[in-house]
Amino acid sequence: ASSSVHFVASHRRINPQSCTSTKCDQSTAEDNRRLRDPVTQKTFEKRRLLGKGGFARVYEVAQLDQAGKSTKKRTCAAKVIEKSRLSRPQQREKVNVEVELLTEARGHPNVVQFLDSFEDDKAVCILLELCNKKSLAQYLKKKQSLGEQEVCNILQQVVAGLSHLHGKGIIHRDLKLGNILLTDDMQVKIGDFGLATRVEWGKKKTICGTPNFIAPEVLQRQGHGPEADVWALGCLLYTLLVGKPPFETYCLRETYRCILKNSYRIPSTVSSEASDLIRWMLRHKPKTRPTLSEISSHAFFAKHSAYLASLRPSAINQMTSS
Ligand code: ADP
Repeated sequence: ASSSVHFVASHRRINPQSCTSTKCDQSTAEDNRRLRDPVTQKTFEKRRLLGKGGFARVYEVAQLDQAGKSTKKRTCAAKVIEKSRLSRPQQREKVNVEVELLTEARGHPNVVQFLDSFEDDKAVCILLELCNKKSLAQYLKKKQSLGEQEVCNILQQVVAGLSHLHGKGIIHRDLKLGNILLTDDMQVKIGDFGLATRVEWGKKKTICGTPNFIAPEVLQRQGHGPEADVWALGCLLYTLLVGKPPFETYCLRETYRCILKNSYRIPSTVSSEASDLIRWMLRHKPKTRPTLSEISSHAFFAKHSAYLASLRPSAINQMTSS
């Protein structure tokens, strides 16, 4: 993340009234490549599309200096949510919550750093630190499969980021490969707080999350506590080691049936330590799943402790360069 800009985050709530405006003063092609904060006049130029999510497009952007020139040093990621997608008040409130929780979660190396947010007539823009290697989904697709040591390194970082969130009373609720971002030096960052919530807001009975990584208690509408994030972590570990999700079937109904029956198979190629941790994290009853500190002290990490201790940025770069 050395290339990311460090703005002073100014978290402004989106004004619901202004979302109804369809007027647009960014009519030229050049203006369409730019994002401008109407309050501070900071201007950003879109460099490339990094990814698309359910609601947003995420671009690499460069901040322009006063002469309108971009500098390589000042690049970051801009999550752009078109206001046409925010026509309902609940949708706008969801973006406000995302920004609020991102702001609160700042300051941990394994959580994507929130930099700033603003809106113009057309869109809401959330500026985040740039994760150049995109997400674990893209990384796994490119590499096909990952070695157990590398997976252990990734998992350790996700657990550290998740401990930070849970410590702040934030449940992520949508941990999946596409929401785990990677920097050039293979630092792992939890991203996309679009479904995140606070523990004290009570257990939501709505079904949310990605179908394959959805916990049985969420499917049964018993609510979504921190244990559901641990379930998703189990699915993540399985997927990284096996190359496909544990409950992947030919149709969603069958996937849900397998989740509720706790029916999955771990290939014999997976080590006994990793299998044991997966089984623990994928226990049907939420309260019998490990806590994050129990996960950190599991034999899976002890097995790779020498490797984890040996990791330096240069060593990580060598291991992952492709
Ligand atoms: P949505 O909330 O619409 O699902 P996401 O926040 O998941 O959108 O972002 C969509 C995709 O954009 C991600 O899967 C990832 O590939 C890319 N992306 C998101 N944030 C960043 C970032 N900070 N750096 C690099 N790529 C990112």
